[in-house]
Amino acid sequence: MPVLVMKFGGTSVATLDRIRRAAKRVGVEVAKGYDVIVIVSAMSGETNKLVGFVEETSPLFDAREYDAVVSSGENVTAGLMALTLQEMDVPARSWQGWQVPLMTTSAHSSARIVDIPTDNINRKFGEGMKVAVVAGFQGISSEGRITTLGRGGSDTTAVAFAAAFDAERCDIYTDVDGVYTTDPRICEKARKLDKIAFEEMLELASLGAKVLQTRSVELAMRYNVKLRVLSSFEEQSDEAGTLVCDEEEIMELNVVSGVAHSRDEAKMTLISVADRPGIAAAIFTPLSESGINVDMIVQNISEDGRTDMTFSCPTNQVARAEEALKKAKDAGHINFHDLVADTNVCKISVVGIGMRSHTGVAAKMFKVLSDEGINIKVITTSEIKISVLIDRKYMELAVQSLHDAFDLDKAA
Ligand code: ADP
Ligand code: ASP
Ligand code: MG
Repeated sequence: MPVLVMKFGGTSVATLDRIRRAAKRVGVEVAKGYDVIVIVSAMSGETNKLVGFVEETSPLFDAREYDAVVSSGENVTAGLMALTLQEMDVPARSWQGWQVPLMTTSAHSSARIVDIPTDNINRKFGEGMKVAVVAGFQGISSEGRITTLGRGGSDTTAVAFAAAFDAERCDIYTDVDGVYTTDPRICEKARKLDKIAFEEMLELASLGAKVLQTRSVELAMRYNVKLRVLSSFEEQSDEAGTLVCDEEEIMELNVVSGVAHSRDEAKMTLISVADRPGIAAAIFTPLSESGINVDMIVQNISEDGRTDMTFSCPTNQVARAEEALKKAKDAGHINFHDLVADTNVCKISVVGIGMRSHTGVAAKMFKVLSDEGINIKVITTSEIKISVLIDRKYMELAVQSLHDAFDLDKAA
């Protein structure tokens, strides 16, 4: 039987009613003759609640126990989805990550998938089971501990299953009807894209467009998974949603295809560090050992042998970063006068494959922001994106003005 992977995000399984609605959709695919692997997220708001419990209990928590707690939301929806399907006379059973077993690295809270053995589930398909409902976001390490794949990780579970089972398609059902030129919740002129290239989607995701987790796009690209994003609330046709595909399948490549924002950014500055060979390594090694995701880095020009070093990282890693840097200072590895954290910033990025062959995008972006009186604090660029760090209070304004300036509301 051909296999189809269908993933339902938090809002799509937020109530028993919605689980029923999702299950009906699964039933339609079963009736077409597919063996279906359903990946479920926790009910909407559930994972945030669990993360809150952990942080309140232990601010610098043991990541292994964090995973034990936050992975549990998916167990509930997996069981409920299997029960709902059974009530509809569709043969189904649930699987937690460790039962598959979905093997991951031991990088707790951001583990990577290492292996998905297919025999257990395939055997059940062979015995007449039509739907395997798998708890997304979770796995098990070689030490036998429960792991999670990072926020939004059920997308990655879904694509990894699609690759492992050679599925015909991986459909990601969510609360918007596809991938838009920017987050439709903060820009009403955002336009749905029928197709988006893997590389653009990869950049948008990694720069904050949480419609797909970055790793899921990487995996889809590597294993050539046919990946579609669509709404679980609207009637479906075969053309519904957005197809994430190779750039060769897209007729007209845009200079700029989308604007992404990331609210959860913090800017940290080490003031007056000795400017000597090896200083960057001395600062960023302890940060990486503490699992800090450093993104942008700026080193100021030095004066009298001292300089300021600025970097950005996710807001929820600030306490951990401070601890790592203070430890390095106490151990005499680095020396700074002060450490200042600014948690009122956000990152705005414009992304487009066409930037490879067009100049002037950065200049235009900076002009648009300056016309709105928005000060840029840090800039980074790559071949197909430009990102800036600005005050968070200007986030919506910046996204909307850039969306207008690059004519993203007009059909390509
Ligand atoms: P799920 O719970 O289904 O995984 P998410 O909340 O993780 O859903 O992702 C869907 C959300 O992503 C949308 O509600 C939307 O606000 C946001 N989003 C951000 N950028 C984009 C974009 N470019 N296109 C579509 N949605 C986007
Ligand atoms: N429930 C997890 C989260 O909220 C995983 C997911 O929904 O993809 O991050
Ligand atoms: Mg998500």
